[in-house]
Amino acid sequence: MTRLESFIRRMTAQRDILDQVCAEVAKIEGPVIELGLGNGRTFHHLRERLPGRRIVAFDRALAAHSSSIPEPENLVLGEIRETASRFIGIDAALVHADIGTGYEDRDAVTSTWLPDLTARLLRVGGIAVSGTPLDHPQLQRLAPPPSVPADRYFIFRRV
Ligand code: SAM
Repeated sequence: MTRLESFIRRMTAQRDILDQVCAEVAKIEGPVIELGLGNGRTFHHLRERLPGRRIVAFDRALAAHSSSIPEPENLVLGEIRETASRFIGIDAALVHADIGTGYEDRDAVTSTWLPDLTARLLRVGGIAVSGTPLDHPQLQRLAPPPSVPADRYFIFRRV
């Protein structure tokens, strides 16, 4: 598979998973946490699918398209490991983490702190969607939509 094909599959999986979980998240109280604003494409999608919901977005630096920039109070810049820790207890309905790099060694470092941070940001019953696996006793893995290839994108419920 070429990198272009792999990218298309990842974006399709991301869209299908976000569409599936947004239907459920609409019934769960609490804000949405977007870890990795990037260009703002998934932020834009979540904002469209969950109108009126507070979405707090995190990144090292602002690089989003002008159409996809959160309100200043909902944009948090810096290292996610530190900045998002300040939001522990926010009882999020959804945490979407799109901070995988495709480099095994870097993603292995992220996996030492991201699962626990995600579990602590979520309310019980809340949903996590992640581009990297989240191995944590309080995060129960859920099945992705049939269109999503195995181990391409991951969904969990906070138990
Ligand atoms: N979901 C975004 C979109 O649809 O446009 C793309 C996100 S991009 C793949 C990942 C982003 O996460 C990058 O902008 C990067 O700066 C940010 N990021 C990755 N690891 C981070 C960390 N540890 N702290 C802060 N930002 C991080």
